[in-house]
Amino acid sequence: MPLALNVKIKLMKQHPDVVYRYGRALYINLTNRCPNACVFCMKKSWNMRYRSYNLELGKAEPEAPAIIDELKRQTAQQQADEIVFCGYGEPFYRLDTLLETAACAPKLPGKPKTRVNTIGLGNMIAGEDVTPKLKGLLDTICVSLNTSSPEQWLEIVRPQPAFREKGFEGVCDFVRRCTKYVPQTVVTAVEYPSVDIPAVRRLAASLGAGFRAREYMPDYQDK
Ligand code: SF4
Repeated sequence: MPLALNVKIKLMKQHPDVVYRYGRALYINLTNRCPNACVFCMKKSWNMRYRSYNLELGKAEPEAPAIIDELKRQTAQQQADEIVFCGYGEPFYRLDTLLETAACAPKLPGKPKTRVNTIGLGNMIAGEDVTPKLKGLLDTICVSLNTSSPEQWLEIVRPQPAFREKGFEGVCDFVRRCTKYVPQTVVTAVEYPSVDIPAVRRLAASLGAGFRAREYMPDYQDK
């Protein structure tokens, strides 16, 4: 990253953004905890910023009442099509907060849809099958699988040791289970140079899910 750009990013406002708007959606930044260290992760190269928002929460993770108040405030100013649980961290570490917040969506102006972007290790994090809890609360779940190969999954997602042995199959199993409870279950893959995108699309179909490729964005974008 050019030095001037790095300095500019560091000089941006410092308070964390918990609810942030991008396009026609409101995004919710629940946690910075994540069990992976993906090779394409933007956390470092974008210095915990996302398009001018500061996603660095530190230890102060937001609770549902404060998030819901902020959603009410922002949707009163401008409605959103969707609220999306997605920050620089894994939302399933905050499952109770996620579910409580998602339940408020039908009461917000415009009744936005709900979506979670996840790495798909939610059941392994919880130690139980949590997918039935999603029923009736989520419209879409996007599971970032990123490859069709268990070996490549270890290389590019770089999970913590607890997830290395059974993680890839655990994510595939999570996807299958989500299709029973969430109307739209979508596998995603970042268009990282070594990834066989058509193979991930075929794997997604075999799991009963849709598929979407995501742009690889190594360089910071302000807008
Ligand atoms: S799962 Fe997301 S936040 Fe975690 S390392 Fe990968 S890209 Fe970064």
